[in-house]
Amino acid sequence: MDWKAAVRKKVKCCACENSMNDSEHINLIALDRAATWPMPVSGNVFAGMETKQAVAVLCDRCIAGGKAVIMYGVEWTENVENVTYHKFADLDPLPTRIHEINKAAMALLVQDPKKN
Ligand SMILES: [Zn+2]
Repeated sequence: MDWKAAVRKKVKCCACENSMNDSEHINLIALDRAATWPMPVSGNVFAGMETKQAVAVLCDRCIAGGKAVIMYGVEWTENVENVTYHKFADLDPLPTRIHEINKAAMALLVQDPKKN
């Protein structure tokens, strides 16, 4: 089973808590919160693994609705064997330093290529 099939089968949407089974996309959203678990996490090459941002999985319905309230960050083990949901309210904010690194990284990524 590939990881997307495993996520559809075992992970619920971190906003509406419904099954991901009929969601075409696995929408991974990087949260403004620190992850205390190994995967899945988001980060960027500028900060290395120091970033370790928690992520949420959202179904297509929640993305299309545009008003999803993310309830959880999600953790899973190898092959999505075990899934743990961490209440968003219980997660620690990212350190200010990481916000600054992310902002600098975004500025690099969104440069107009015509200006280079
Ligand atoms: Zn949803």
